[in-house]
Amino acid sequence: MRKFLLPLTVVLSLSAFAEVKVLKNFTLIDGTGKAAIADVGMTIENGRITSIGSAANIKPPAGAQVIDLTGKFVMPGIINLHGHVGNTVDMLQNPKFFTRENIEKNLRTYASYGVTTILSLGTDQDLIFQIRDEQRAGRPGFARVYTAGQGFTIKGGVGGSPPGTYNPEDAGEIPKDVDALASKKADMVKMWVDDALGKRKKMPFEMSKAIIDNAHRNRLRVAAHIFYLADAKQLVGAGVDALAHSVRDQPVDRELIDSMKKHRTWQAAATLTREASMFVYAKPFPLLEDPFFARSLSPATIANLNDPVNQKKIASDPDFSKYPSFLETAQKNLKRLADAGVPYGLGTDSGPPGRFPGFFEQWEMELMVDAGLTPTQVIVAATKSGAEFLHAADLGTLETGKWADLIVLNGNPAANIKNTRSIDSVYIAGNRVAP
Ligand SMILES: [Zn+2]
Repeated sequence: MRKFLLPLTVVLSLSAFAEVKVLKNFTLIDGTGKAAIADVGMTIENGRITSIGSAANIKPPAGAQVIDLTGKFVMPGIINLHGHVGNTVDMLQNPKFFTRENIEKNLRTYASYGVTTILSLGTDQDLIFQIRDEQRAGRPGFARVYTAGQGFTIKGGVGGSPPGTYNPEDAGEIPKDVDALASKKADMVKMWVDDALGKRKKMPFEMSKAIIDNAHRNRLRVAAHIFYLADAKQLVGAGVDALAHSVRDQPVDRELIDSMKKHRTWQAAATLTREASMFVYAKPFPLLEDPFFARSLSPATIANLNDPVNQKKIASDPDFSKYPSFLETAQKNLKRLADAGVPYGLGTDSGPPGRFPGFFEQWEMELMVDAGLTPTQVIVAATKSGAEFLHAADLGTLETGKWADLIVLNGNPAANIKNTRSIDSVYIAGNRVAP
């Protein structure tokens, strides 16, 4: 018996230091796709879930903070697989805005909308790695950031420009740039393969192929900005790991679907809201009047979007009449890929001017349901699947051992996806971060 006394004392003194929270009496949507479960309790120790189950069986330890959530719904935090942080102030984008203050402001805004993790896709300067590494060493007070660091664009092409991206002149430069990303432990590699409807230069295939091959040599994965079905096919065939936008020029076909399944390529982000953002601001946009969305926009941004001169300018884009059909095609393609069993997450391309963090992820879920997915499919895409794509084993679902990144809601999101907007509070690593 004596043998057990010492270890027991050690355990007791350790748990005396543990910060323990108990959430109880809520309905759980755990992110796995299982049906909602009523009357659940969850114990959180130092930010991680240590037990979850029937509230009646949860015995809060002495000193625990107990939070009664009777009547509430709890789901995992939303994971956005295509965002951009730090480069935008109001309706202007410039790499000079890429400061810690601006990055953290964006990450706080995401968190306030229940987006607890984002993958920033290819417009980051090196400061992002420092912020990410600090977060991973502790318990972040705002959304977790994953990053592709500097993505690959070409001069005169689509995408950003240095210092937020690499602009290789030829494929020979690519190995050293990818090696640099690997040494910074980038979470992904991003490249843009598009010509903006013929208005820009497209990255040549030998270059995108070199990016994929060099990333894989470094055990990194590649997410591609694409627009055309033909480019998607070529890149999936070459081993690209994810499409960061929907195919938008035409319906996806059997050949692409079979190739994505064979190569296990993800439709990581459908970016439906990004497509909508190309045309909705050409006239007064009702969501801007919704206090849930308006609260995160500065008066200058709202004035800009409500200015008839700017609305006219948007409508005068020679390609303007095509944009609604790109959204429609993207929605049909998402449904088709989902039905075929291609893995998909949630991603918006939020962050640039007019594409608002948090607001867009919430709206994206509605557009995914409009595309024909069930609310539960959308919730799984936005949580469990997002974590799987990021290889984030301790995020995405509410199960023992995972970080307590979660949203407390007043309505059931599995019954109506718009209930993801009925936010009571948001937790990251067990800490209430919003409101
Ligand atoms: Zn993007």
